[in-house]
Parts: sequence; structure tokens; C-alpha cells
Amino acid sequence: MTVIKAEAMGMCFGVQNAITKVNNITNPHEVTIYGELVHNSEVLKRIKDDGFHIIPELNRPYLPITEKILVTAHGLSHKERKWLVRRGKKLIDTTCPLVTKVHNEAQRLEGLGYTVVILGKKDHIEVKGIIGDLSQYIVVENVDEVYRYKINRLGVICQSTCSPEKALYILQRIKELNRESEIHFTNTICKPSWDRQMAVQNLLKTVEALVVIGGKNSNNTKQLVSLAHKKNIPCFHIQTVDDIDLEQYKDFLTIGLTAGTSTLDFTIDEVYEKLLSINENNRIKEKGMIHKEKERINMLN
Ligand code: SF4
Repeated sequence: MTVIKAEAMGMCFGVQNAITKVNNITNPHEVTIYGELVHNSEVLKRIKDDGFHIIPELNRPYLPITEKILVTAHGLSHKERKWLVRRGKKLIDTTCPLVTKVHNEAQRLEGLGYTVVILGKKDHIEVKGIIGDLSQYIVVENVDEVYRYKINRLGVICQSTCSPEKALYILQRIKELNRESEIHFTNTICKPSWDRQMAVQNLLKTVEALVVIGGKNSNNTKQLVSLAHKKNIPCFHIQTVDDIDLEQYKDFLTIGLTAGTSTLDFTIDEVYEKLLSINENNRIKEKGMIHKEKERINMLN
């Protein structure tokens, strides 16, 4: 069996920067991480073990007991920032610059009189941060949610980890149903996320199955999984090497490997090695069968 790695995969610079900042904090007990730093259960466990306070994303807005609050790479609305600062909190900001870019574009479009339409997940913390500063907005998750808005100017942007294919499909539908509106589209999908999706599209042309490593609640990871589903290619969404059951993979000759933007290199290496171990297991089995066959022939002689 061959395991082919995607050309672009794994941890992005935004998540890496956030982790580096966290690693440089010397007094974890004095800091609250305001949401999930990364959608990676291993990293989250380590952070918790280090003594950081963590506020679940669903509980926000929330006033932590610590004075210092770390804003995650997914960002935060200006409104919520001000709310925290007014209550005496000091913010350690790890917002990814590419998320800030989406915030800025949303603000710019609203300033120009557009109603902002965000192509993304309503419940995702990045989207909540963006819409938190808008007076009027529409969030579209799927093409069947699009309707005739009867709004003169629509400014369409994307959640940073949106699927490019899906975004264009939804945009097309918005244009079809809103012919009388002026529609401005800004592609705000981040490059690392874009590159990882393109790399998987290429990989799916040559493999029989795909393994995707990443958090179960990671949007960009789910996008990678859905690319395989669309092509009807068997896909295994795992979080760590422990999720691998080699029996499930033994019949494939080529397996593609990719990982979401919160996945550590170490985890990718472990998974890669474990998948390759199928070859070693097969060799041992073959040797065993040859040995038994020789024994059988000797007995017959
Ligand atoms: S996925 Fe993109 S936007 Fe999100 S942290 Fe990584 S680089 Fe930044």
C-alpha cells in the first residue's frame, strides 16, 4: 500500500502563532483562554494541564475571573473586546491576521452601504465575531438558504475556512435570485485553507481512500472530509493515531493523507507511520503463509 501526503496540509501559521504565544506565557494560572485555542483535543488537554483557565466557546460572552484574557486565532468582535476591557481585563491577542482581514472587509462593506452576507457557519466562533460588529447581516450556510433579499446592495464575503467550491456555488445562487441588487463579492477565504482544499482535490484524483486528521469541530477539517464525500471516495476522519483501525485500510492500494490547520506535525508523522505499517504486517503475514506452505509440502513428502 502507498500513502500519498497532500502537497499542502496541517498546521497553518495562524494557529502556530497562537500556540507559540501560549507557550511563552510563564504564569498560565493568571490567564483565561477565551474559547478553544485550536480545534485539537491533544493541544487543548496540554493547555488545561498547564493550568490555563478555558472558557468554552458556547459560554461567550463571559467575564472570566483572571485579569488576562487570551483572544484565540478565531478572533473576537470589537464590541466584545470593549466589553471585556471596560471591566478591567487585559487582552493577549492571537487573532490570525487573515481573520482580521475578514473583519475589516465586513466593516468596509458596511461602511459603503452594503448589507454584508457571510458565507459560513452560523454557530462558528469566527462568524460570531464578525457579525458581532455589524448592524445588519445575513449568514448563509447552504445554497438552499438563499432567497430574494430585496436589498439594494449586498456585500458577500466568506468565513476564512469556507470551501471555495461551495462559496462560488452559493454566490451564483445569490446573483440568480437577486438580479435587481448590486452585488459585490470579496473572496476572504484564507490562503492556507484554500491551499489545503486544492491539494486534496488533486490528491483525490489518484487515491482510493482518504485519511483526514483534525478536530471533529474544526471547520476546515470538515471541508476536507466533504471533498472526499462529494467524489464518493471512502474517507476516514480521525483525530489521533489511536483512531486508526488498520483492518479498515488493508484493502486499499493507495491512501491519501491530509490534515486540518490545527493538526500538529508530530500527529501527522505518527499517522503516516502507522498506515505504512500495514505493509510490514502484510510482509509478516506472507512470510507466515509461505512457512506454513513449506511445512505442508514437507509433511506430504
Ligand atoms: S485557518 Fe486561515 S484564518 Fe484560520 S488561523 Fe489558519 S491561516 Fe488564519
